Amino acid sequence: MKNRFPAIMPTYNPFDVIFERGEGSYLFDKDGKKYLDFSSGLAVTALGHSHPKLVEALHSQVDKLWHLSNMFRIPAQEKLAERLVDETFADSVFFTNSGVEAIECAMKLARKYYHDNNQPERYRIITFENSFHGRSLATIAAAGKEKLVNGFGPMPDWFDHVPFLDLAALEAVISDETAALMIEPIQGEGGIRLVSDEDMRALRQIADDRGLLLILDEVQCGMGRTGKLFAHEWSGIKPDIITIAKGIGGGFPVGACLATSRVATVLSTGSHGTTYGGNPLAMAVGNAVLDEILSPGFLDNIDRVSGMLMEGLQALKRKYEGIILDIRGKGLMIGVECSLPIRPLQKNLIETGMIAAAAGPKILRLLPPLNIKDEEITEALEKLDGVFSRAHLSEAPAAS
Ligand code: PLP
Repeated sequence: MKNRFPAIMPTYNPFDVIFERGEGSYLFDKDGKKYLDFSSGLAVTALGHSHPKLVEALHSQVDKLWHLSNMFRIPAQEKLAERLVDETFADSVFFTNSGVEAIECAMKLARKYYHDNNQPERYRIITFENSFHGRSLATIAAAGKEKLVNGFGPMPDWFDHVPFLDLAALEAVISDETAALMIEPIQGEGGIRLVSDEDMRALRQIADDRGLLLILDEVQCGMGRTGKLFAHEWSGIKPDIITIAKGIGGGFPVGACLATSRVATVLSTGSHGTTYGGNPLAMAVGNAVLDEILSPGFLDNIDRVSGMLMEGLQALKRKYEGIILDIRGKGLMIGVECSLPIRPLQKNLIETGMIAAAAGPKILRLLPPLNIKDEEITEALEKLDGVFSRAHLSEAPAAS
């Protein structure tokens, strides 16, 4: 082998553990050691690993047909689109392979909507500080965070950033050039910050009053994560466009942009497209994921187990006062804000046999599979207790 620069571009800093297989809520390394997975590949493996129905859906499609291109009708794509339409505010769906492509579609829709409605001067999009919408040039500009944009400038300059949920600042920045507001109903990467139902309704009202489109990025918080199919449903509002990905593929790359007919009607043959989006493999899995999430009692159970997890975490917060500063989130998207750096905590957790994600340097992000079992929640709480008790001894600030 050549002595060379890392063959994988140095954008990640993986933990030093190699997993060989997964089953349900657990991952197994090459020595057979078991790890309780509370990261779900960053909210992707929503039904756990190797879910028998997803495995079966993919296997049976693999034997028949992998790829066609959208030159031809794909019945499973039509079926998944119709089901998403039946279950949501949306009238029409565009399938993608990732979250960022779904957001590109959403932003293009907003542009074209005003173009076709004789207001081409409306092209700007208002976004919120600390947001995350992906890694394309447009979406890093949308988030605006220094860490994302540094060195990649000049940035597209058609985003206006306002502090998270500062509605007065939002109103002040709306101009005759504004096309849309774009927000995550729960900021994921930004630290598990919730838009309250009241604020969500206020955003809808502002968009209506000022003639703007409301785009909700549900890439992370959608597909059942909060206990409803989509997070915005808690507030009762109807957005104009939503973007989804992650959970809908259960681990297979799938994304989608969902819109009302009023908006989707601006697209026509050739105005937008993708090679892989909506291909038969992806759609076989997407339909199987939806079967599970929509099965009777599935979403209600998320509410119940979430209550159990939250209660246990609150007890840990009381026990490790000064180390655990805040517990927040909804459903199975939970942030544990700590006074300690998270990376060492994550490493300690891995050693004890548990995986958790981070959301920034001081927030542990818990994203267990949506079908997590009660005893697995108990196990997670015990493991967290163990790790915090050691962090408590070694790293707690000295009492003054
Ligand atoms: N939007 C949100 C809210 C996300 O959390 C992410 C990814 O973490 C994205 C968009 C980008 O999705 P992808 O990485 O699939 O492009």
